[in-house]
Amino acid sequence: MKYPLTLVPILERAGKLFGRVEIVSRCPDKSLHRYTYADFYRRARALAEALQRAGLRPGDRVATLMWNHHAHLEAYFGIPVAGGVVHTLNLRLHAGDLAYIVNHAQDRFLIVDDVLLPLYEKFKDQVGVERVMVVPLSGQTPPYESYESFLVGASGQFSYPELDEEQAAGLCFTSGTTGRPKGVLYSHRALAVHTLACALSGTMGIAQQDVMLAVVPMFHANAWGWPYLGALVGAKQALPGPHLDAESLLDLFQSEQVTAVAGVPTIMLGILQALEKEPGRWKLTPGMRMVVGGAAAPEAMIRRFDQLGIRVVHAWGMTEMTPMGTVCELKSYMEDWPEEARYEVRAKQGLPAPFVEIRAVNERGEVPWDATTQGELQVRGPWIAARYYKLPEEQNRWTQDGWFRTGDVATIDPEGYVKIVDRTKDLIKSGGEWISSVELETTLMGHPEVREAAVIAVPHPKWGERPLAVVVRKDGTRVAAEELREFLTPRVAKWWLPDAFVFVEEIPRTSAGKFMKSRLREQFRDWKWEA
Ligand code: ADP
Repeated sequence: MKYPLTLVPILERAGKLFGRVEIVSRCPDKSLHRYTYADFYRRARALAEALQRAGLRPGDRVATLMWNHHAHLEAYFGIPVAGGVVHTLNLRLHAGDLAYIVNHAQDRFLIVDDVLLPLYEKFKDQVGVERVMVVPLSGQTPPYESYESFLVGASGQFSYPELDEEQAAGLCFTSGTTGRPKGVLYSHRALAVHTLACALSGTMGIAQQDVMLAVVPMFHANAWGWPYLGALVGAKQALPGPHLDAESLLDLFQSEQVTAVAGVPTIMLGILQALEKEPGRWKLTPGMRMVVGGAAAPEAMIRRFDQLGIRVVHAWGMTEMTPMGTVCELKSYMEDWPEEARYEVRAKQGLPAPFVEIRAVNERGEVPWDATTQGELQVRGPWIAARYYKLPEEQNRWTQDGWFRTGDVATIDPEGYVKIVDRTKDLIKSGGEWISSVELETTLMGHPEVREAAVIAVPHPKWGERPLAVVVRKDGTRVAAEELREFLTPRVAKWWLPDAFVFVEEIPRTSAGKFMKSRLREQFRDWKWEA
């Protein structure tokens, strides 16, 4: 049959088959909001109906400015099944950028958390949103229409409009660490197929029995597909709300018996530090899985989590890729490999997900899968964007033969595992040769006294550029530059050794929690190298 791949069957499945499974959200006051997929189903459909009554036309954008919680999950489904496009706004952006994004997307409606109203109010006069619904999370009556009364307006008699699988369902802008934020539109089909692929045991491997917790924000790259994935398989979801510090997260892991989490390395490093600092304080579910991506997961982190009984699964993706690209699980026969070899594989970004085609290309063409030759990683597949939203001038990110240029430099090994060497713009070019900042960082973060390390290129009179390492020490430690240089010496090529180590209290972050290297490069642009 020609059957459209949309989000409707996923919502129906969650409501009809898993109605008793819980969805737990952390509120701003730290209390827990609990309800079930049955409640979620009813309310997501009520939202869809209320939007239609409010005059939503097919393809209209409805923006969300929200933390991870049940109402955001309702928006993830209710908006697209009504024929609208859920446009997740990144609440860590500057008000000026948000105004630009809302205007570029021409959002008609906005659903916003009451606790985020001060942010909305900073740009509300610069945008033309028709109607604003406020989610009352803190119990106070907001000075706008309440999301709750908006839902009450629905009769409960909702029928889905006819949806084409190619129709847009979601919209997300890349965080824009370089240039203006660029919009990526997701079709129903892309989201449906991506969700199916995410559930496989070789990828995110989530089953009904799991308790999932996406630390990755729902305003960032579909929260890696987890909200849709949870509904598809009927897994309990725990949503952290605005409380993303290690202790709050660990409390939630414990109280909800979480079995699978997803987030960026910086957050997970914080969790690791808390667990190592107070052994025994939290009782976590044995065999917990932790999908880590968004930036390279240091091998030392993977090892240390293993010692605590938590299995890190490394993954790579991009907003332009819905976002799943590769996920790293060992193949059956690799389980017998020596420990060193297993960790070497597990620290890579992994195998391409089903339906994602990969190739790495350099000046001479496609590079061999030999684990050493580097090239720009290019991808294509059913959930890879074909263009940016209303930005025809950016079409050079796609090749003539239809592949997306990721801007990441990678090697691919004979087994098909991708290793990200760097972002093109973060590579360090010293004396005409490339140095991988990622490799230096992940190695440095293996030093027991280093909490975080970012390595950047700084202009150098003789070599063009040389690496400078910006390091955050662990609390109460005093490691010095000389010791770090000695630590790196047997582990990387001699000419890769950073020429300077700068110790700081913290490394600036992007809105997605990654190291903001563009800011560091600016900060150290005029660095004076010692003669
Ligand atoms: P932003 O561009 O705002 O950071 P994305 O989340 O789309 O937004 O970032 C995608 C980029 O993040 C990739 O192109 C890559 O450079 C980096 N990245 C993602 N996952 C990994 C990973 N596991 N290892 C190294 N880099 C990663």
